[in-house]
Amino acid sequence: MHVEVNGTTLRLVQGDITNQRVDAVVNAANSSLMGGGGVDGAIHRKGGPEILEACKKVREEMGGAKLPTGEAVTTTAGNMPVEKVIHTVGPVWKGGDAGEYELLANAYRHSLEQAAEHGLKTVAFPSISTGAYGFPIEEAAEVAIETIREFLENHPDTFDEVRMVLFSVDDLQEYERALM
Ligand code: ADP
Repeated sequence: MHVEVNGTTLRLVQGDITNQRVDAVVNAANSSLMGGGGVDGAIHRKGGPEILEACKKVREEMGGAKLPTGEAVTTTAGNMPVEKVIHTVGPVWKGGDAGEYELLANAYRHSLEQAAEHGLKTVAFPSISTGAYGFPIEEAAEVAIETIREFLENHPDTFDEVRMVLFSVDDLQEYERALM
């Protein structure tokens, strides 16, 4: 399923984030930037050690600090068939009263800002925070779609395509509902 928003295609597909032919993929990282499970593990496995080296450099540049939740940074994609990986940290779900919705929106917004700054025209996102971080998929889908749509409305001619890559059919259906 796809829609056009201000000249950009917003597309929903079922698939693996590491197999997308796009300019940039977004990593559902954790604030250590040192790798993990889920999407993070898959991207580091496919991209190889160059990505971890680049993440270490980013941490050094931040004086050793962790990447705050909702922020995003860009690195090489190593052996992945894309130009860049944008690492963002989604919120851990704590019941919904700990700023999770705003933090999740920030993760999408800041990732899109990174892509725009680097001149990357096609960007693929996984479903941030809905795996190990436990964000309910229905709410997460609404935040993701709303945030991306608003960004595209405010930034015409910035991207050719923004793609949400959902791992399961069930997740794809949740995002389709949010897009309708
Ligand atoms: P988080 O820690 O932000 O919750 P996860 O990586 O644990 O991130 O999961 C985020 C979502 O990505 C989950 O819905 C999970 O099913 C999905 N996912 C896991 N591996 C992949 C992959 N290779 N490609 C696309 N989506 C994936």
